[in-house]
Amino acid sequence: MVRVLVVEDEEGIREVLRQYLTAEGHTVLEAPDGTSGLALIRLGNPEFVILDLMLPGIDGFTLCGELRRLRPEVPVIMLTARDHETDKIAGLRLGADDYVTKPFSPRELMARIAAVARRSRRPAATVGDDAKRPAAAESPPADGLWVDLADRRAFYFGQELSLTRSELALISTLGARAMRTYTRPELLERLRGDDAEVTERAVDVHIANLRKKLDEAAAAAGFGAGNPIETVWGLGYRWREEVASRVRASG
Ligand code: CA
Repeated sequence: MVRVLVVEDEEGIREVLRQYLTAEGHTVLEAPDGTSGLALIRLGNPEFVILDLMLPGIDGFTLCGELRRLRPEVPVIMLTARDHETDKIAGLRLGADDYVTKPFSPRELMARIAAVARRSRRPAATVGDDAKRPAAAESPPADGLWVDLADRRAFYFGQELSLTRSELALISTLGARAMRTYTRPELLERLRGDDAEVTERAVDVHIANLRKKLDEAAAAAGFGAGNPIETVWGLGYRWREEVASRVRASG
């Protein structure tokens, strides 16, 4: 059960979503336009966002970018009336976790929400452990990658990375085993679980976003080394051996 923010200008769709989400035990916040959507992102403390692409005022793409900037940890599913791959790619660049194309089946959307929420949930054993963990174990090293999956935090050369759920899943997979090549289908599996809907192209887009964030963090820390994620042509991706990487599964 989560606090779901629905940003959608069509009242009929909001109504249907409200009924289905409430029936599943979720709390629903509603915004009929981008401006009130942004206000609720800032003040409503949503734990999940369903975001329409075409909105009056601030559009869905812009709002998704703002959401990623303000609350990178909140999963978002975009609703779109268009079914063009370019829109999907553009949305993924902004960090949407999944897509549903209108007209959609509410039942299918509920299944997608459950799948995204499942992927993004903290391991049950670590919830509430933050206060107990000693502060000394928290300090990230000055070199390479450091990921704490329990805290869902990642650092690169001491700089904290602001990652989406999907990016965190990818970087922790690659970083945990340097020089192990992961194929696109393998990485897709880490992202999507049983959802067969999303294409392998999504993996490439998430990797491109990750590389950009890693380069920016390295530059901010004064390191000019090449990107640690290598493309293995025709296969997939791997983490370069010479860049240190540590992935902690739990505290
Ligand atoms: Ca709309």
